[in-house]
Amino acid sequence: MKFGGTSVADGASVSRVVDIVESCHSAGNEVAVVVSAQRGVTDQLITMATELANNTDSSGIEPFINSLRIRHGKVLLESAEDYADEVGILVEEQLCNLENILNAVHNLRELTPRSRDYIITFGERLNSLVVSAAFRQRGIPSETLDGCEAGIVTTPNHGEAMALPQSEEKIQKRVLPLLADSVPVIMGFMGCTDKGVVTTLGRSGSDYSAAIIGAALDADEILIWTDVDGIMTSDPRLIPDARVIPSISYLEVMELSYFGAKVMHPRSIEPAMNKNIIVRVKNTFNPDHPGTTIVRGERRDTRVVKALTYIEKVAMVNICGAQMIGRPGVAKAIFSQLADRDVNVMMISQGSSEANITLVVEESQEETAREALSALVRQGMVRQVTTNRDVCAVAVVGSGMAGAKGTGGRIFTALGNGGINVMMISQGSSEVNISFVVRQEDGPRAVRILHDEFHLSEEDDE
Ligand code: ASP
Ligand code: MG
Repeated sequence: MKFGGTSVADGASVSRVVDIVESCHSAGNEVAVVVSAQRGVTDQLITMATELANNTDSSGIEPFINSLRIRHGKVLLESAEDYADEVGILVEEQLCNLENILNAVHNLRELTPRSRDYIITFGERLNSLVVSAAFRQRGIPSETLDGCEAGIVTTPNHGEAMALPQSEEKIQKRVLPLLADSVPVIMGFMGCTDKGVVTTLGRSGSDYSAAIIGAALDADEILIWTDVDGIMTSDPRLIPDARVIPSISYLEVMELSYFGAKVMHPRSIEPAMNKNIIVRVKNTFNPDHPGTTIVRGERRDTRVVKALTYIEKVAMVNICGAQMIGRPGVAKAIFSQLADRDVNVMMISQGSSEANITLVVEESQEETAREALSALVRQGMVRQVTTNRDVCAVAVVGSGMAGAKGTGGRIFTALGNGGINVMMISQGSSEVNISFVVRQEDGPRAVRILHDEFHLSEEDDE
């Protein structure tokens, strides 16, 4: 079971978490818990560390450490009164450690990827102490393990590390023996290299931690406890009658999260999928709601389209020139220029005339992309590179679309009838996702039109 930052924000919510774990555990199940940081703490750590490396002023350290002390101390007192002193000392140790590193960053005016990763794990370090104490307060034996101790061995790429296969055996050795008579609390978001250097798994990486650990333990289920009822057909801020999807396939969830829907860490599905373990997304604040079940999904779906996501902060990059026609190596040159500058490409489309290639990148990478590609204009490989920020992307996701005739027709007819101009379209051959780009101002309406067209607000007829 993984619990997110809002599920552990105060004494009352931690007590809900303990209720959930207790009822599962006392029913005879073995449970391992993964926790992330309290809400907002990771962001604060990132900001603090970055500022200290770039500023002469270090007066922010003390109040920051103090705010963490107050915040965690309060939840500790509310949810584990009897352990407040004992665990309070451990919290102080962590705070002291953090304060020292922050001072070092400031003295050196240097924040390496390695020290940054270490610093930003402190949210998890602090929170796990509190949650584990709350279990003990209710009579459930519990100890904390950091991601490295739990056995997660990762690649050395800081900030986006990936678990290596040898983790499985390590996790089994370390965590399995604890499950018989306790509930270990494992710090999410982190692992370490085989040399013991602390790494992080990418933002929202605790989902990924839970999946790695659940898969290694051959769990019956991986539960992601969050603060919404499940994965929704679309963003409820955009579509007030968006609905929780009862059941969705691994593939569909991956498409959704790659495409920016903040449902789960994009890599967190793979470990579960490899072992065919059911993943459930449920609401800590509404535990009786069945939530969303993520499964392999061999069953032929009655619905062609499952969900819609919408990304605002994107830019479209258009590369054109008659000299591109029939010339091998143009795409290679484009993508290697972008890769060299760390520009991530979200969508690609090329017409069969080959005279232009259109890409979608994150808005924050537009400048870099344009600069990177201007080299190709200078070399005469392409004629022109233009960009457009005034756009947004919509992804229509559903594995029922594969092989179903007429879905594309329905999508674009509905948009056309709504007077919306589509600027770019892309569909991968997996056919699980059709994405398109429209003008920024048309985005929300495009999503609404399609949500209606595919009756996504209506309950499944099963
Ligand atoms: N605390 C980390 C983050 O904010 C990991 C997580 O929340 O899953 O990204
Ligand atoms: Mg999350």
